[in-house]
Amino acid sequence: MGWYNVRIGLSQSSTFEDMIEADSCEEAEKIASDSVWDDVYTSEIRAHLTIDDEDYDALEWCVECNNEIDDCECEEDEDES
Ligand SMILES: [Zn+2]
Repeated sequence: MGWYNVRIGLSQSSTFEDMIEADSCEEAEKIASDSVWDDVYTSEIRAHLTIDDEDYDALEWCVECNNEIDDCECEEDEDES
């Protein structure tokens, strides 16, 4: 058993609809966009969230010197001291 630093990459998307009162399609889209960035849709985004792609990359890790095992400096330090 050892320690592994795992990078987790997720590509997620969320598609849902809302009824927005506006004077034009452009204005409605602007209001929708502002609502997204103002966190108005936080619960809707989460409810419709799907994971489109996932990527995991593990590196064996030395927790003593906090380095990738290939860059482990523990033995070198012991030699110097
Ligand atoms: Zn080390």
